[in-house]
Amino acid sequence: MNQENSTAQILVIEDEPDIQELLEYNLKRAGYTVLLASDGQSGLSLAQKHIPDLILLDLMLPEIDGFSICKTLREQAKTRHIPVIIITAKSEESDTIHGLDLGADDYVVKPFKTQELLARIKAHLRRYELYRSAATKPSSFNQENYNFGPLTLDRQKHIIFLNKQPLILTLSEFKLLAALITSPGQVFSRLELISHIADKNVHLVERNIDVHILAIRKKLGEHAHIIQTIRGVGYKCNDLAF
Ligand code: CA
Repeated sequence: MNQENSTAQILVIEDEPDIQELLEYNLKRAGYTVLLASDGQSGLSLAQKHIPDLILLDLMLPEIDGFSICKTLREQAKTRHIPVIIITAKSEESDTIHGLDLGADDYVVKPFKTQELLARIKAHLRRYELYRSAATKPSSFNQENYNFGPLTLDRQKHIIFLNKQPLILTLSEFKLLAALITSPGQVFSRLELISHIADKNVHLVERNIDVHILAIRKKLGEHAHIIQTIRGVGYKCNDLAF
């Protein structure tokens, strides 16, 4: 993939021919290489075979549904990092929250505005590219970075490192962890944390925060205690952890 992302490869898993065609047309026009799948099984196979730079995923699919695909992608080392944007019908919007729980990065609701979708694709590709370059060049530390125990926040690149290795976080997980570690000791309510990761197109409920925190703790491994649960209130970053 080059700097402009123009040759990035995008896998579209969508069973509605009209939408598939529309996506293919607009993605190719924007300079992307496009892989198409009309059912879950072939979508998953293509993802595993080609390791695309980004996946657009419909939820209601024949063979294997979008949730299972998302879960499988996140469980496998080769596909774990690929940004996934869920394409969902308005009526499935509550299901989408579940998709975010399974590790999807973002979602758009049908009928979507092409320009908006392209802008999001670009943002996720950029983030993914920064992550990959950080993973191969972990020495790029500078004074702008914020340190908290074994964690380092690179504000410019939007990456958090754990012991100098980039943590693989979704955008929401990144925003949550960044908010918590940059205000150590401050207790955040779930609603406050929602406001930190809010996006006008993504509607979150308090339960989503718990799911994100759980995912972050898993990724922090032995350092999971950095995030403390404050019963009946929310969460804080444990400033006495080190
Ligand atoms: Ca569908």
